[in-house]
Amino acid sequence: MLTVTEARERILSNFKTTTTETIPLTDSAQRVLGVDILVDGDYPPFDNSAMDGFALRSEDTTASPTTLNVVADIPAGSPPTVSLKAGEAARIMTGAQVPQGADCVIPVEDTDFNDRNAGTTPPKTITFTKQMKAGDNVRPHGTDMRAGETVLKKGRTLKAQDLGLLATLGIANVTVHKKARVALLSSGNELLDANAPLEPGKIRDSNSYALAAAIQSADTDVIRLGVAKDTRESVTSLLDKAAAENADLILSSAGVSVGAFDFIKEVIEANGQMDFWKVNMRPGKPLAFGEYRGIPFIGLPGNPVSAFVGFEVFVRPTLERLNGKMDGGRQTVKVRCAEEVNSDGRESYLRVKIRMEDSIRTAVLTGHQGSGNLLSLVQADALLIIPAGVKCVPAGSEVEAILL
Ligand code: AMP
Ligand code: MG
Repeated sequence: MLTVTEARERILSNFKTTTTETIPLTDSAQRVLGVDILVDGDYPPFDNSAMDGFALRSEDTTASPTTLNVVADIPAGSPPTVSLKAGEAARIMTGAQVPQGADCVIPVEDTDFNDRNAGTTPPKTITFTKQMKAGDNVRPHGTDMRAGETVLKKGRTLKAQDLGLLATLGIANVTVHKKARVALLSSGNELLDANAPLEPGKIRDSNSYALAAAIQSADTDVIRLGVAKDTRESVTSLLDKAAAENADLILSSAGVSVGAFDFIKEVIEANGQMDFWKVNMRPGKPLAFGEYRGIPFIGLPGNPVSAFVGFEVFVRPTLERLNGKMDGGRQTVKVRCAEEVNSDGRESYLRVKIRMEDSIRTAVLTGHQGSGNLLSLVQADALLIIPAGVKCVPAGSEVEAILL
């Protein structure tokens, strides 16, 4: 039997990161950066005022009070046309370039001119008592970013604030990895769609919905192919659709055990190949991996919790590899077990709720841990990982958990 780590490495070794494409910045949120971003100059590009006030020379402020002649008016966006001489000041707005000669800005409220209404013209002179130092209320050029600095690394999933930074740098089109596409199918004669009334012997297809959302949460596009019946024809028809879509991965759930109606193996082998792996884990021991018409295939178990855990353990890392993501993913943290936890010696993923006790993350099992029970997964904040070979974890032990 393979360990979880061996199975994951074997899967990952079959995937390469997608190539890159250049797209408008406006479409780039949550996409994965395909290049390092280097700064082309200093930002801010010029010394500018941090306040609405008056730019002046600090050396002119030793007298108390000081009176200066206002010789210019500098709104944001208009470069100054004056160079201040001794005894001179210029009205200046926040973000406007500080004129030559000036080394500081006195806020308007610290002067005798406190008319801040829009449209007011500057006064002829200002008087104030405050003594100013060079640099007061000035934001020097290059305080945010320096020319040549690497500010964003390839592999980063772009966030809102990153888009702001790229816009600041004038990068209106950004190079990102192509978004991976996964063709998703469920399989089983017992499956009804979410909108169907229940019928005898049938259940609703929850995996299509949960797995599609999980794929999207990994910033990957999903092609929903629906449900294959337990017939050779139906399975062939859906897998052919997946191949026609030229997806990066075909992901299915159920129908890969060796039941009398499990045709997926046979159909895949007719046009590709398939390995069955028993992975030393719980839930989700059976895992199918192969390729169909040249497209990698992962077959997750059918039970909803097994399918979900299999996704987190094997598929999410695969999608990260495909998308070139170096960040994101699930966070693993240490937690304390509130109670004794037992396992059968396989690497186990148990559904737990996390509560804070004495500032320590403390894990409590949620309800019935059977692999068909979705509610206990919904109630969980994390999957507790009991390592292989461990059968009993005493209360109070520290264990790793994947935060959901
Ligand atoms: P199988 O691998 O086909 O034997 O399925 C294992 C178990 O998972 C059975 O109880 C199925 O009814 C259940 N199952 C399979 N597919 C789904 C699905 N898409 N949604 C909910 N349960 C499913
Ligand atoms: Mg089935």
